[in-house]
Amino acid sequence: MTPAAPPAGTAGSLVGPGAGPLPVGPDREGFDEWAAEVRRLARERDAVLLAHNYQLPWIQDVADHVGDSLALSRLAARSDARTIVFCGVHFMAETAKILAPDRTVLVPDLEAGCSLADTVTAQGVRDWREGHPGGIVVAYVNTSAAVKAESDVCCTSSNAVEVVASLPEGPDVLFLPDMFLGQHVARSTGRHMDIWMGECHVHAGISPVQLRRRVAESPGAELLVHPECGCTTSALWLVGNGDLPPERTHVLSTAGMVDAAKRLGSGHALVATETGILHQLRRANPAATFEAVSDQAECRFMKMTTPEKLLRCLREGLYEVDVDEATARRARRAVEAMVAVGSPGGGE
Ligand code: SF4
Repeated sequence: MTPAAPPAGTAGSLVGPGAGPLPVGPDREGFDEWAAEVRRLARERDAVLLAHNYQLPWIQDVADHVGDSLALSRLAARSDARTIVFCGVHFMAETAKILAPDRTVLVPDLEAGCSLADTVTAQGVRDWREGHPGGIVVAYVNTSAAVKAESDVCCTSSNAVEVVASLPEGPDVLFLPDMFLGQHVARSTGRHMDIWMGECHVHAGISPVQLRRRVAESPGAELLVHPECGCTTSALWLVGNGDLPPERTHVLSTAGMVDAAKRLGSGHALVATETGILHQLRRANPAATFEAVSDQAECRFMKMTTPEKLLRCLREGLYEVDVDEATARRARRAVEAMVAVGSPGGGE
C-alpha cells in the first residue's frame, strides 16, 4: 500500500500511511509500513540515511547509521550513495557536504538549526583575530561551515583536550563556541584560552542542582555526562569532593556513551545530555537501566525531523544543503588538521 502524501505537521501530530496520527515514541503501530516506504524511496534515490543520536526513535530505527555528527559525516563520505539524507541539524549536513562535496546532501527540515552553532559567526572569529595576530582558533564541530572556514583546527568533545594540548605554546588561543566544553578543556590541559561565551540551551539547562539530586537518589548509578552540560563542572566538583566515585563518573561524547552502555551489564546509569540518546543506549544494552538526569533536556531542533518530513524529503528531494567550494575547502582544512592530531572520536 502506498502511503498518502504526508501533510506538514509536528512531532505530536503525525499523519501516517492511512493509519491516522502516528505515535513517534515507543509505540510501534504503523512503523513497519512507514519504514518500508522510507526504505523503498531511499533505494530509488540511491540515498544513505543518517540519524543523529538525538533524533526521534522512529528516525533512528529506520536509518542506515545512527551516531554522532562527525562520525556520520565521515561515514557518508566513505559510502557509495549518491545522496546523503542527514536527519540531524543544519551544521551537521554542512559537515557532510564539506567531507563529501560531490554528493547531494538533503535535510528533511531546513529550519532545524542549533542554538549553540548560532552563537558565533565568521565575522565574530575575524574580529577576534584582529585583536590577536597569530592567534589560533579551535572550533568545536558544532559550528557552521563559514565558522569552520575561519578556524585553524576543529575538535570534537572526544578529542578537544588532545587537540588543545597539541597546540604550540605562545600564540593566543580562542576556543569556540561552547563555554562549558571550553572550561572543561582549559581545566584538563592547564592552557589559558579565550573561551567563546556560547552555550546550548538544552545542555546548559541540565543544572548542578538537578544533578546532585539525581545522584543522591541513585547512589549506585553510573553517571554519563556530556561535556556541553551546565552540570559538568558540578560533576567534576562532586568527584573532587568524594561525593561521586571517579570510576563511576564519565564525561563522554554521545558515541562514548553508547560504548559505555555496552559495558554496563545489567547496571544503572544516569544520563546528562539530550534525552534522544536514551533510545540508542537502551538498544545498545537492553539489560541495563538508563534514566535522564533531566527529562526536560529535549532539543526542539532535533525533533523537527518527523517521520512525515522524512518521507517528503525522499519523495521530493527537499531540502538540499550546499556549501560553496571556497568555504568548503577552507573548512575541510580545519577538519583535516583535527584528524592529523589523532582519532577524532565522537562529537555531539
Ligand atoms: S542539543 Fe544543543 S548543541 Fe545539540 S543541536 Fe540541539 S541546540 Fe544544538
